[in-house]
Amino acid sequence: MKKFKNIAVLTSGGDAPGMNAAVRAVVRTAISHNVRVMGIFRGYSGLIDGDIRPLGLRDVSNVINKGGTVLYSDRCPEFQTAEGMAKAVDTCKRLGIDGIIALGGDGTFRGATELTANGVPCIGVPCTIDNDIASTDNTIGFDTAMNTVIELVDNLRDTCESHARCNVVEVMGRGCGEIALSTGIASGATATLIPEFSYDVNDICARIKKARELGKRNFIVIVSEGVGNQVGPDLAKTIETETGVETKFARFAHIVRGGSPTLKDRVLASTMGAIAVEELLKGNSNLVICEKKGKIVAVDINYALILDRMYKNKLKDGDLDRFSEKEIEKMKKEIREKQQTMARLYGISKTINL
Ligand code: ADP
Repeated sequence: MKKFKNIAVLTSGGDAPGMNAAVRAVVRTAISHNVRVMGIFRGYSGLIDGDIRPLGLRDVSNVINKGGTVLYSDRCPEFQTAEGMAKAVDTCKRLGIDGIIALGGDGTFRGATELTANGVPCIGVPCTIDNDIASTDNTIGFDTAMNTVIELVDNLRDTCESHARCNVVEVMGRGCGEIALSTGIASGATATLIPEFSYDVNDICARIKKARELGKRNFIVIVSEGVGNQVGPDLAKTIETETGVETKFARFAHIVRGGSPTLKDRVLASTMGAIAVEELLKGNSNLVICEKKGKIVAVDINYALILDRMYKNKLKDGDLDRFSEKEIEKMKKEIREKQQTMARLYGISKTINL
């Protein structure tokens, strides 16, 4: 088995609260195995440029509670070119980097799988507030983002109640409505719009009118950004015109990406970071660390990426060729379960949030 002397850690793509807790876990787990760790700054850009320095136990002090990423992040198109990849591999050879833990989303994992194919073993740890990685039930940062959303919505609800108003709120999530769905339930939103399910503006207005007749004074509508940029502002105008309830629009955007990670995200990040290092040191690579039904498991990155494409209806010709019938069935089952969970939550939110 390969003897690891030096490994490295990077954060890439969109940042997420809890990334620092994961970096800390990687550094301290590796050192506990007598393996040196290097921090790669600015994601794959830093790997190409050699923006790298050793990290000791105390270099990750006081970061478990901090949002953002102390290693900084970047989008790096150069890494997707043959020249960029060659420079990255050369940096690893020059500095004796035997393997990399890559913290980020699906783009970061595609980079990690390319790097593994070029001789540098990588393991991915899913960090994104959107929870849009189908292979894991939870990503690092998702819980914190949802808690930030409900705190902000609770503030809006106070003022809506005082003035008998409605507030339409747009939350992040790219093509994935998970933040909106759960925060819609948790903040008592009268309606929640997510890209996974169709919605009817007339029905939303009718729900608001009915709730007002039943004595309700505050109305919250949560819109996931994935339903379209103009949907939230337009909906606010329509609600005001159709129901007569004064309606404001708020876009939370990046305010939800920062902030101190919740307990749940700190524990998830610490556990996933530690397990990622243990897997790498066992000689495993091309894996993404996932949470499935409460357990932390290592999943093949290619399986995870194709499962994700299948879930998002973005499969390309030949994507399934390398998988057995059994694996394809497993993917379909995982997707059905995920869709059923979302449908169930969506139904509950409609029933109880009146
Ligand atoms: P996220 O990891 O949050 O999904 P991005 O999609 O922006 O964020 O990906 C982060 C970085 O990963 C990109 O800037 C690029 O350097 C690298 N990356 C993305 N896709 C690929 C790919 N197909 N091949 C190699 N590297 C990639």
